[in-house]
Amino acid sequence: MRIDVFTLFPAWFEWFTTQRHVRNALKLGHSLDFVDLRATTPLKAGQVDDTPYGGGAGMVIRVDVVEAALEARYGGSASGPGPGLGPEPGLGPEPGSGSAPEPGSAPQGRRRIVALSAGGREFDDALAGELAAEKQLALLCGRYEGFDERVHEHLATDVVSIGRYVLSGGELAAMVVCDAVIRKLPGALGHESSVVEESFSPALAGAPEYPHYTRPFDWRGHKVPEILLSGDHARVREWRIARSRERAARTAPEAGVGEADRPGRSA
Ligand code: SAH
Repeated sequence: MRIDVFTLFPAWFEWFTTQRHVRNALKLGHSLDFVDLRATTPLKAGQVDDTPYGGGAGMVIRVDVVEAALEARYGGSASGPGPGLGPEPGLGPEPGSGSAPEPGSAPQGRRRIVALSAGGREFDDALAGELAAEKQLALLCGRYEGFDERVHEHLATDVVSIGRYVLSGGELAAMVVCDAVIRKLPGALGHESSVVEESFSPALAGAPEYPHYTRPFDWRGHKVPEILLSGDHARVREWRIARSRERAARTAPEAGVGEADRPGRSA
């Protein structure tokens, strides 16, 4: 898989690429590159942003700047169907990958271009799996007030948020997406079974994972559940699934209750 991250701060990713699963993925032939949005700006003096129409605080990253960066990287016209964004043989999701774009996202066969934005579709395990099945993924990191809306509408295939809070830039969000996607690439983790049965995976019917314990058996009087020492794999399995379901029930939003009314939240 080829991942390109478009950012004004490529240096943010230097540490990230030293991490073992990322290095493993690179050794397996995947690529992860960082493209400086400022390097290809068509504006003078490295300008990439401008004041917002309609007034207000902050600067907005210009659509023509993002377009120029995508075109420099992929060629063609980034805003119309062409080599930039359009169908390219072999660039779609792997056949049979089960990737089913959400309404409004890329039709099958297009390069996946994800703009990071607080207000986008919330990133989850299913989307990580969908992106991991792509051959090419571009991540667009915003800064300041974010991107001109036309980046979301005409250059990106997806607008993705990593949660309902605001970061100062898309770099951490892109790292979150890269991390979750890369650990799904076969061979990246080094021990495959650990990705199959994890929180939110189909193997656990989308529920959080069950608890894990290791030595010491007795820590300050808090003992490991006896069942885990029983050697009875079927009963251990049953116990684990039950704990996973309990966690799902505890963390699921309650039906019919608004977010603000949930216990532990102040309105
Ligand atoms: N004015 C925007 C916030 C801009 S923050 C708003 O109110 O929504 C600057 C950039 O940080 C964004 O363009 C986006 O790329 C990134 N960002 C901030 N919070 C994010 C989140 N929760 N998920 C993904 N990206 C985020």
